[in-house]
Amino acid sequence: MVIDIKRLRLKGKSGCSFHFDYEADDALLTLPESSFSGAVSVTGELEVDGEDVFVNGEISYSINTVCSRCLTPTVYEKVVPFDEKFSPSDDEAYPYYKETVDLTDMVNDKIILSLPYAVYCKDDCKGLCPTCGADLNKGQCDCNK
Ligand SMILES: [Zn+2]
Ligand SMILES: [Zn+2]
Repeated sequence: MVIDIKRLRLKGKSGCSFHFDYEADDALLTLPESSFSGAVSVTGELEVDGEDVFVNGEISYSINTVCSRCLTPTVYEKVVPFDEKFSPSDDEAYPYYKETVDLTDMVNDKIILSLPYAVYCKDDCKGLCPTCGADLNKGQCDCNK
């Protein structure tokens, strides 16, 4: 996910739009038994202002995971907006070097920060019985009788 600022400057442009299909590493995912179900889509606009580069847009991803309560396979989908600055000198911004902006670290950060602590197959999932492990969505077990 690299954008060549020098090439933009040579074309006399101060910005561009971009789209990347990013094969994100499943190691980013803190949820158990999870993997990305496809490429992460990154779309946005880039604007060069002096040595600062501003990017904004959307990251959308989808994860194959399991329900945190009942362990049923569940897909989690998320769209994360971003609006960030890249700068070779500003410590508050993402760095860039040699007139190329690499979005990878920023996109990874946004994905990590947007991950849920838990995913549910449905809002009112009843989960598993802590005693016998029965799926309580499929009916009450005999433990509380
Ligand atoms: Zn569930
Ligand atoms: Zn039970």
